[in-house]
Amino acid sequence: MPQSFKKYQLSPSRSIFIKLFLIFLGTAFVLVIVIRGFFFLAIDRNHSFKSDLFKNLTKYSVQLVNEIGTPPNRQRANALAKELGLQFRVHSPQQSWTTDSTLPPISSLRVDHTFSNATTQVGQFRRHPFVILNRADTQYVMFFLHRPFGELPAWSFAVLAGLVAMVIAGSYFAVHRLIRPVQWLTKGVNELGKGQFDYHVPVTSSDELGDLSLAFNEMAMQVRDMIQSRDRLLLDVSHELRSPLTRMKVAVEFIGNTQVKENIQREINELEMMVTELLESERLKSQAGYLARVETDLVALAQDVLNDYTSIGPGVELTAAPSTFSLSLDEQRIRVALRNILENALKFSRSEFGPINVRIEKMTNTVSVSVQDFGQGITQEDQAKIFEPFYRVDPSRTRETGGYGLGLSLVKKIMVAHRGNVRVSSKLGKGSTFILEFPIATKQTHINDSEPK
Ligand code: ADP
Repeated sequence: MPQSFKKYQLSPSRSIFIKLFLIFLGTAFVLVIVIRGFFFLAIDRNHSFKSDLFKNLTKYSVQLVNEIGTPPNRQRANALAKELGLQFRVHSPQQSWTTDSTLPPISSLRVDHTFSNATTQVGQFRRHPFVILNRADTQYVMFFLHRPFGELPAWSFAVLAGLVAMVIAGSYFAVHRLIRPVQWLTKGVNELGKGQFDYHVPVTSSDELGDLSLAFNEMAMQVRDMIQSRDRLLLDVSHELRSPLTRMKVAVEFIGNTQVKENIQREINELEMMVTELLESERLKSQAGYLARVETDLVALAQDVLNDYTSIGPGVELTAAPSTFSLSLDEQRIRVALRNILENALKFSRSEFGPINVRIEKMTNTVSVSVQDFGQGITQEDQAKIFEPFYRVDPSRTRETGGYGLGLSLVKKIMVAHRGNVRVSSKLGKGSTFILEFPIATKQTHINDSEPK
């Protein structure tokens, strides 16, 4: 499995969910403007509509003025205003009054001259029509106002705000629901990347995203089947090789020439190691071979493994570690993992660059053992493949760097069985750092990081 995925941090501005939600709100907003604009042009700006409207209002206004009488009767005007929901203003040399003190003076009204003449002027005040009738020295103004906003009770605005909030919240949850399969698929891809082929993406819809989820599950199953049959084949071959290897080991004892005998013995030992690693890898997957975990001091364990290598090649040093760190581990398997990593580090290091540097560090949710060498390093491309079984950077096996490319794949399996991980960071020509990460289960750890060793 490739180890170095380029991880993109999903920023809120790049979330498809936020984008969809904003598109939705934007569309609603633009639609309101377009529809409002259409009615504005089709009605408010429509000449014949306005002409008819003002003609009707003028006729009606004449009736109203007749009812108010000459000279104008203020009580009558007030009663009409109340009854019909209109407002009046009257202005003459003798009197000047209005049925609503908030109405503007006649001089500030903007008259629409297209529809006006000497005795009748019309226009709009706050988008509501008005008619001014001139009778002798008296001016009558009729304001055809609907109930102005100011008269609406305060709670009606709260209701409006509530309804708007409900519509926005409704669309938020609808978009969220729609986009959920994308989040599940992202998780599915991540799980698949970690080798969890049994992970199933929920399929809750029969739309395109539902189809994609189905196709994803199908693909995960096919990949799992392929990997299972590959592992099965490896396991079968390994089993078959064990008996001939044992027979060869016995037979080789009868060879007289010690040089030939040693060479064959070395080859047999390597083959035997390969078979053991393959079988061990397989065992880690099965229930019976599941980890034999016990509370173990990781620091003491690492120190113990390191001691075997301090005098080999450039040597090994534990440069930072808590004094103890207790963790539930399968001690033997972690020993194997550490040994594989350390042996590789020594194998690919140059002694002139100083010893292999080992650090044990506690992070928030993990404790890590990092093994840093100053050797040849690994290319970015190879870093993604070295944890696959039988992958070797240099396919030609030499005596010094021998091995079948199984060591790191076994390390990976051991770490995954511990619900941890192994990763590498490396620079060609500068060296590599392999990091074993163990999850910290709060219950089962005890830490004392008073002083580094
Ligand atoms: P092998 O047993 O063949 O070494 P591994 O699985 O342990 O197989 O390693 C796979 C490959 O990764 C090796 O062939 C080697 O090329 C590369 N590798 C592993 N560790 C290091 C390291 N510390 N420095 C450089 N290359 C490494």
